Amino acid sequence: MLLVQKFGGSSVGTLDRIRACARRCVETRAQGHSLVVVVSAMKGETNRLITLANELLGPSGAERGAKGPYVNAAGGEDRAYQRELDQLVSTGEKVSASLLAMAIQRQGGAAISLVGHQLGMKTDRVFTNARITSIDRGRLHAELDAGKIVVCAGFQGLDPEGNITTLGRGGSDTSAVALAAGLRADACEILTDVDGVYTTDPRIEPRARKLDRLTYEEMIELASLGAKVLQIRSVELAMQHGVPVHVRSSLNNREGTWIVSESVRNLQAPVVRGVALDRNEAKVTLTNVPDVPGSVAQIFGALATSGIVVDMIIQNASRDGSTDVTFTVPEKDLERSVQQLSTLPLVAESSTQILSDAAICKISIVGVGMRTHAGVAARAFEVLSRDNINIQMVSTSEIKVSVVVDERYGELAVRSLHDGFGLDEAT
Ligand code: ADP
Ligand code: ASP
Ligand code: MG
Repeated sequence: MLLVQKFGGSSVGTLDRIRACARRCVETRAQGHSLVVVVSAMKGETNRLITLANELLGPSGAERGAKGPYVNAAGGEDRAYQRELDQLVSTGEKVSASLLAMAIQRQGGAAISLVGHQLGMKTDRVFTNARITSIDRGRLHAELDAGKIVVCAGFQGLDPEGNITTLGRGGSDTSAVALAAGLRADACEILTDVDGVYTTDPRIEPRARKLDRLTYEEMIELASLGAKVLQIRSVELAMQHGVPVHVRSSLNNREGTWIVSESVRNLQAPVVRGVALDRNEAKVTLTNVPDVPGSVAQIFGALATSGIVVDMIIQNASRDGSTDVTFTVPEKDLERSVQQLSTLPLVAESSTQILSDAAICKISIVGVGMRTHAGVAARAFEVLSRDNINIQMVSTSEIKVSVVVDERYGELAVRSLHDGFGLDEAT
């Protein structure tokens, strides 16, 4: 078998952990499997590097710490600066890849580490959030044919001009799935600090239960609604190429969670499969928006032009010729959103006011079974009302229901819904 195994930041966070990963790699190889390993930077390293760059920018950058311009990539930050940021943050993975290769060699295995450009990982030109366009497999095959464990630095690639790019936070997951797809590996194992994908973040609800199987679609929803266990793009890519993904612990050999296509999934699975919490959204309300054609086009057109991704949108029924429009944006883009909106003719020429609130969060319940079950949203509202949690906004799709609540009640809402839908009971 050809396996791709990805070790996340906490799994390579110390030299002891790196030695433990090396043991696991040597054992897998000894079982006769060909092995490509992908590593993240040592825990905290990427944040440390981003913070260094922001501190260099001066007081405003220092305030932003690791949440600085890296995540604000769409904000028109200087391209030359972003290029250097990618040069900088990609070093984290280079360190862990070479240390792991050395540790494997030390334990008697044959290994070679390769960084993004050495392993032929080609991307587009979008610094700090690049997409993989192709992989030249020549070098990889040559090293595998020579019997080596190939240890790849995740999170990075090379653009058409030969610049180093990075794939967005959590991007090593995507490197691993792309390599598994490109090499037609038998499976892609994501080895992390939890035993698999749980019904909700086990750090918030200790009674969360590990799921044996999830569909790609369910995992994409959970990841995009805040469960950071896998980068969204990695699951999209796995679905596109049919790569079976196995999320499991790097610290034990227990079976984890298999992410598979819907046809392989357990049809008896409950309607709601998981609960996700997203703390990174903010709410904006425009009051007294003139109820005439073009008003909302002006609002959302301005945000779209600035590359701000709007999530939920509510427009109330009109009274006296005007209406209120409320929507959510990523918290990091709140300031920019308000600035953009305050320059709109609509705001200048009418009595429209802009209100904003960053102290909110979004909780979502997800499950493909919702397609065929009625009353899931009603049940969720009832559960939340029992705990006296006020719902500020609601949005639904075929396989999810999301609500916005006061940030202070986010974790309580997660636990209420988890309990209310019986997710801690064995199925
Ligand atoms: P790595 O460093 O291995 O990439 P991450 O920190 O990116 O690990 O992802 C693992 C973390 O994801 C867990 O420690 C857990 O707190 C969080 N998490 C959030 N939602 C879930 C979930 N539904 N199931 C499992 N883990 C989750
Ligand atoms: N080191 C990168 C990050 O912290 C990529 C990853 O861990 O997947 O986002
Ligand atoms: Mg991760």
